[in-house]
Parts: sequence; C-alpha cells; structure tokens
Amino acid sequence: MKIVQMPDALANKIAAGEVVERPASVVKELVENSIDANSTWVKVEIEEAGLQSIKISDNGEGMAEDDCERAFFRHATSKIKDENDLFHVRTLGFRGEALASIAAVSRLSIKTSTGDAAGTSLEMEGGKFISKSKSDARRGTEITVNELFFNTPARLKYMKTIHTELGHITDLMNRLAFSHPNIHFELSHNGKQLFQTSGRGDLVQIIAQVYGFQVAKQMIPVSYKTLDFSISGYIAKPEVTRSSRNYISTIINGRFIKSIPLSKSISQGYHTLLPIGRNPLVVLTIEMDPILVDVNVHPAKLEVRFSKDKELYQAVETMIREAFQKQTLIPSGTKPKHQKLESVQDSFELYPAKQERTNDQRLLEKTVTETMTSPSFNAYTIPAFENHQAEGKEKLNQTDDGQAFHEKVEEQLPTASPAQPEQSDTRVPAMYPIGQLHGTYIMAQNENGLYIIDQHAAQERIKYEFFKEKIGEVANEVQELLLPITFDFSKQEALMIEQYQTELEKIGIFFEAFGQQSYVIRSHPQWFPDGFEEEVIQEIVDTIMADEKINVHKLREDAAILMSCKRSIKANHYLNNDDMFQLLEDLRAASEPFTCPHGRPIIIHFSTYEMEKMFKRVM
Ligand code: ADP
Ligand code: MG
Repeated sequence: MKIVQMPDALANKIAAGEVVERPASVVKELVENSIDANSTWVKVEIEEAGLQSIKISDNGEGMAEDDCERAFFRHATSKIKDENDLFHVRTLGFRGEALASIAAVSRLSIKTSTGDAAGTSLEMEGGKFISKSKSDARRGTEITVNELFFNTPARLKYMKTIHTELGHITDLMNRLAFSHPNIHFELSHNGKQLFQTSGRGDLVQIIAQVYGFQVAKQMIPVSYKTLDFSISGYIAKPEVTRSSRNYISTIINGRFIKSIPLSKSISQGYHTLLPIGRNPLVVLTIEMDPILVDVNVHPAKLEVRFSKDKELYQAVETMIREAFQKQTLIPSGTKPKHQKLESVQDSFELYPAKQERTNDQRLLEKTVTETMTSPSFNAYTIPAFENHQAEGKEKLNQTDDGQAFHEKVEEQLPTASPAQPEQSDTRVPAMYPIGQLHGTYIMAQNENGLYIIDQHAAQERIKYEFFKEKIGEVANEVQELLLPITFDFSKQEALMIEQYQTELEKIGIFFEAFGQQSYVIRSHPQWFPDGFEEEVIQEIVDTIMADEKINVHKLREDAAILMSCKRSIKANHYLNNDDMFQLLEDLRAASEPFTCPHGRPIIIHFSTYEMEKMFKRVM
C-alpha cells in the first residue's frame, strides 16, 4: 500500500498554508471569531509585527470547557450545521479551520469563559495539546499566538519587513473597524497604541481615524434602499481622489469584501466628476438577505458572488449620482490652511505618545483646532491634483491629547443625515462678468465674492451635455453625405464591425461593406460636427477595439466628450461681455456645472471673507 491517511497534525499544517499566510491573517481570523462571538470590545496586542506574539482579547460569549477543546479540531464550528445553513451565513466564519490551522503553526494559549463558571485555559504547541487548567470566570476569550511559523521555517522566510507586516495588520484593523463601527477596537504594537475606535457606531469618526480629519470633513453621507438592498455610508467629494482603488471600501453584511464590478459602479456614480485615472474615497455598507450572497468562493472570504449583482451595481451608481446632484461643488481658491494642517498631521506621526510631545507640537495642535473652527475654514479645497501628496500620511495617532482634538473636530464632521440640501434651483449662483483674463478665464462677481471660470472647461461641459442629449435621440436625425467616406480597416477591425453592426446602427452609423475590409458611410447622425466626421467614426471604432465590446451608453458618452472638446472655444479667445454672460448662464443651466467632462474644475471661488483676510482687513 502506498496511500496512507495523513495524521491530523500534518493535515492541519498543510491547511494552515492556505488560511495563515502572514501575521495579519491570524489577526483577521481571531478578531473575526471575536466579532462572531458578539463581542462589544476587541483588543489586539502584537509584538514585532505579530511574528513574536499576537494577543486578542474579547468580551464575547466565550466557550465552555468541552467546546474549547473541540474548537481546535479541523472543521469544527458552531456556526453552521448543515448544507442549508451555508446559504444563510450571517457570521464571518463558518469553515471551522482557523483555530486548527493557527494552532498548527504556533505556540498558542487560550483562556475562555462563558461567564457562568470557572473558565478554561489550554496550551498548545504545533497543534498538539500540552496542558489544560481552570482559569478565571471573566466572560470572554483571550488567545495568545506566540512564535508564529516556528515550525514552518519556509513560511517564515517569506515574511517581509516588520514595517510591511505591520502595514497589513493596521490595514486589516481599519477594515474591521469600518465593517463594525459598533465594536470598540484597540490595536497596539510593542506596547504603543496605534489605533482605537469608540465603538459608538459613528462611521465618519472611524473614517477620520483612518484617513484623517481633512478627508472626513469632505465626506458626504449617503443612503439608499431598494427592496433587496439597504445601502449607506460616506462618499468623498470629487476633489478628494486617489490614484489607487484601495480607498473604496465595501462591506456586505458586516464582511469587508473586494469586488471590482462594485467598485466600478461606485466610480461610475461619480461619472464625469472624477478626473481620468483617479479613484474616489468611499466607505459603503450594504445589507441584504444572506441568501443573495455566496460567501464561500474564496478561502479568506474576500470575494463574494451576488445573485442580484446588476441590481446592486445599479442601485449604488444611482445613489451616488443622486447625492452629487444635490451638492454645490465649487472649490475655494485659497488653500494655505490646508497645508498647515498636513504638516501637523505629519508631526503627529513623529510624536505618537503623549509624553513625547514638545511645546511646538502643542502649539501646532492649537493651530489646527483654531483653524478648523475659524469661519474662513472652508470645507472645500483645491481639487484633485494636489491630493496625492498626503496619501498614506494621513493617519492620526490616537492619544489622550488627541482625544480633545478629536472631539473638537467631531462637531465639524458631517453627520449621518441624508445629504444636506445645499442646492437651490440652479447650483451655481447668479454672477456677473467683470472681465476676461488672458483670453482664458472669466472673472465674475456676486455678493459672495469673486469667481474665476475656466472658459474652455465651461464650454466643454455645456457642449458635452448638449451632445449627450443629441446622441441619445440619434436615430431619426440623419444627415446624408454629399461624398461618401471610405474606410479601410484591418482584418480585426472589420470582424469587429461585422460583429457589432446592429449596435453601431443604433447610434446612427451605417457601415456598408465594400470589398473585403473596406466600408463606406453615406450618412451620419445629425450631431456630428462638420469636418470631423471621419475622425469621430475612427474614434468610435478605436473605442470598440479597445473595449472589445460595445457599450452604446459609453460610446455615446465618449463621442459626446470628443465632440464637446472639438467644438469648444479654446483658450486665448476673446469674449465680449454678452458672450461671457451667456456662457455663465448656460453653465448655470448645466446639470453638472462644476467639472468639465474630463473632471477638471470649472469654477473657483474666493469668498468676500477670504479676500478680506488676504488683505488683512479682518483678522
Ligand atoms: P469558524 O469561525 O469557521 O467556526 P474557527 O476555527 O475560527 O472556525 O473557530 C472554531 C469555533 O470556535 C467557532 O465556531 C466558535 O464556536 C469557537 N470560537 C472561536 N473563537 C471564539 C471566541 N473568541 N469566542 C467564542 N467562541 C470562539
Ligand atoms: Mg473563525
């Protein structure tokens, strides 16, 4: 006989490879167990990024003596009993693998009690039980994992620097905090506290912890309900953007998940408000019947499958779009306060502990508080292109002193009520041109101060909306060409055109085959700009080639953007007073008057107060 059944210890060690990749995975599994045990506080204490020790304590349900032993067997779980339960999972765990796997690759001790009687204490080493004794009756569980991977040296070799591993752990704690604002979390490393949440259910407070107050102040609360989904959370104003998608956090039924299509629908909700290639900062919590989510597709359960995915994506997109339609999004032209704030945040990082603070530090903190409470502290800052600078540097350390600061700012953070109605009928106030600068910018005024408008960007926006509407009603308005245009396509392009013929016709483009790879066009939609017909059609073909599919909606949109660009007044173009007035009026009538179709800002505002401050007319 060649085949033998593996001893449990070996099987567990192998299984551990899948569940326990690095210290952060241990923290994840153990904290998730604490959450599943209905804890209201969870404390995580680690040494040397978790490689030396990880200690998790909670005030959850705890385990009775026999359960405590059984919990370390493979596939031992209290969370599901039969196949049917698998479709209604409400807990974070259900595979019954974590404790067995973690115990297999560490020296582990556990102390647990249900609070009814004396607790149980167990010691394990490489998955083997070493000793058992009674412990105190405090309700809850405390698990310490020492010398992780002590018996799997190969795995240990793969560990990155302390810094990297610690990064994974803090990242994880941030996500757990986002998913469970009602739980009080604490994280400390080598005796220093890194992170703490109040557990009072205030999501924006946690956002402030994780991304900094500046960002938290720029978040808009959103909520939306359909028959199947209840969605809520915070979305950043479009001027707060990131180059990475990692700042989109999505939580489904308390589980932090990664879903590319879901993140995409979030970005699509921002639509043309975001600059190309930038991503928003969003935290969304989605509740739905567990039957609609399959969580059993990924060992770490980071990926899930939805049965009503299209509906969900649509709901998210609509929610975000509607939220912005209610907002006024004109950034302020002044920004010195903002820079001051960032330097303060940096120094917070340098001096995390209270006793290490210098007088300079205190002074800076005072400035922050004063700045933030001063009437000129405008919630709007100059948009996107400046925002990358603070990436990754925005974390504030929580200390006792920080707490007062925290509370001060708390008053200024947005509250969880639905988006504030800043809107009037038109979201851009009436304003009157004063003049034109360098043939490029329109200066305008009203009782609130000075506005500077990028005339090209404004034009693009107005034209874009015009063309978008036109392209939508395409079919009936076709313009015959005097001279047909001939196109010679590559084999690949020709195949593509055949494949998408009907869709192309839907947007008013009729390719007539003319030989193997040549086509003629005899007419085109009315809205095509004169003289650019060929260019626009080629652009449309290129888009289809690049996307390898046709998305009529997107094609129309791309064409509208292209069109608006071609037809807009370029910079260095003189406008008289009437032209300027008309342009401003058209802009006010636009449905998205704040950014051009590429996401660049159109208007910048200097309030009368800010002007007076700059000239020191007021202090
Ligand atoms: P799973 O979470 O998939 O059930 P685990 O191996 O993570 O599997 O845990 C096994 C069992 O141990 C859980 O089902 C639960 O009953 C119990 N358990 C683990 N951690 C705790 C805890 N912190 N408090 C109470 N019970 C726990
Ligand atoms: Mg578990």
